[in-house]
Amino acid sequence: TTQIAFHNAGKVFQTSSGPVTALEKIDLEIDKGEIFAVIGYSGAGKSTLVRLINGLERVTQGTVFVNGIDITHLPEGKLRSVRREIGMIFQQFNLMRSKTVYGNIAYPLKLAKWSKADIQARVTELLSFVGLTSKAWVYPDQLSGGQKQRVGIARALATRPSVLLADESTSALDPETTQDVLALLRRVNEELGVTIVVITHEMEVVRAIADRVAVLDSGQLIEGGSVDEIFENPKAATTRRFVNTITHYDPEPGEIERLQAARPGATLVSIRSVDPAEFGRCLAVIGADSEVSFEIVRGGIVQVKTRSIGSFTVALDGPAGAVARAETSLREVAGLAEELTRGEHALDTPAPGRHELGEEPD
Ligand code: ADP
Repeated sequence: TTQIAFHNAGKVFQTSSGPVTALEKIDLEIDKGEIFAVIGYSGAGKSTLVRLINGLERVTQGTVFVNGIDITHLPEGKLRSVRREIGMIFQQFNLMRSKTVYGNIAYPLKLAKWSKADIQARVTELLSFVGLTSKAWVYPDQLSGGQKQRVGIARALATRPSVLLADESTSALDPETTQDVLALLRRVNEELGVTIVVITHEMEVVRAIADRVAVLDSGQLIEGGSVDEIFENPKAATTRRFVNTITHYDPEPGEIERLQAARPGATLVSIRSVDPAEFGRCLAVIGADSEVSFEIVRGGIVQVKTRSIGSFTVALDGPAGAVARAETSLREVAGLAEELTRGEHALDTPAPGRHELGEEPD
């Protein structure tokens, strides 16, 4: 069944410099129990879409349904019960610094006038669900970004909403932590049956978590479908740009052998971005004996997954057929590529420490 629906919905803001169309002719149905992603560049209308779902903004055209209720003209008083069904998490977590983890999670329950005993039972349960039982009495400042977002998720789930809106919820996190938070969101969906709407500008997030995705461009939904469909056959130019931010590459056997001869235990990986204007050609050296975490890549195909221009994940075939993964920053890889492409001599020079595995991206 449908949980959230937009029918020919539009939003025009009246500003001092004239009307601004934020959304136009939006037709969208999000099903109960699915993870639905909305992807778009800055200014595409993503935040406006979120604000229309929780009733913080009203459409200027068309209709919006949440949980079967037409909220288009619903009075503010009645919106409150609709909002109780909707949890939200944010890019900057939006925790209260003056309250402990426990206090942050308990807060929406206090507002909903739960009894002290019920609050305690619920917060205890949520702390355990997000793995933060030992942090109950810690203040947000003492938590890592990933832990803060887990508090955010627990707080959003406190009143048992049926929908969770995740607005750029991993954009402030590093790739590793992003994966942890996305894994937790998947559990929220699978174990608690919560419908999740993921708002993002990162195709990597879409691929990691969503069942379906809609692409928002200049206020219009230009393409939508299952994530697999969109990846295999992106139609609109904007969709292709998003898909292409996830770079595919094949190591060139000749280069690998050459490098391995020069640096035993190392593997040379040639990374070719689908969008050469953006990334050019990169080469990365990765010590196969370094400490790495492994990630299985489809059918042995080696992939580079870019999260952003700044940093990405390198995956490659290791010596024993394993797939190694390393975080690095594009700038460093590009610098290394330059060194390596200068000629044979560079290949004989071990890469400086900063290029080695396990280094934090800056
Ligand atoms: P996104 O979240 O994808 O970055 P937004 O929904 O914030 O996009 O914005 C979409 C468009 O609507 C932008 O052109 C933005 O300037 C405009 N907009 C958003 N909110 C307002 C507002 N309150 N008043 C006027 N214009 C707005």
